[in-house]
Amino acid sequence: MSGTSGSCFCGAVKFTTSGEPAAMGYCHCTSCRHWSASPVNAFVLWKSDAVKVTQGADQIGSYSKTPQSVRKWCKKCGGHIFTEHPAWGLTDVYAGVKPGVHVHYQETVLKMTDGLPKMKDIPKEMGGSGATLPD
Ligand SMILES: [Zn+2]
Ligand SMILES: [Zn+2]
Repeated sequence: MSGTSGSCFCGAVKFTTSGEPAAMGYCHCTSCRHWSASPVNAFVLWKSDAVKVTQGADQIGSYSKTPQSVRKWCKKCGGHIFTEHPAWGLTDVYAGVKPGVHVHYQETVLKMTDGLPKMKDIPKEMGGSGATLPD
């Protein structure tokens, strides 16, 4: 997946990504579950400067529950667009997921025995414990 374009549910907001994603996987944390209204939230992390809004920037709403995550959505349709992680310089784009890892698995409500690594919280280099849990 090298360079992709995406849009919100109604198409008012459009964006592109360039290059390769930094990481892909599933997040099991409570915040993501509430935000996505599903038992797990798939993520594709890109370097923030690789993500460009090409249309409808004025339609983007923004909510930050914790300083780690600024969640963005379309004000017209309510569709999720992406989540910025300013401290890591990464942006989580909800498009074209090809997961490679599970994070915040200690909070899981949906066990997924898919053979992928299960991080207890998040990797050490991102400020977590780096511990993994059994599949
Ligand atoms: Zn929309
Ligand atoms: Zn999460």
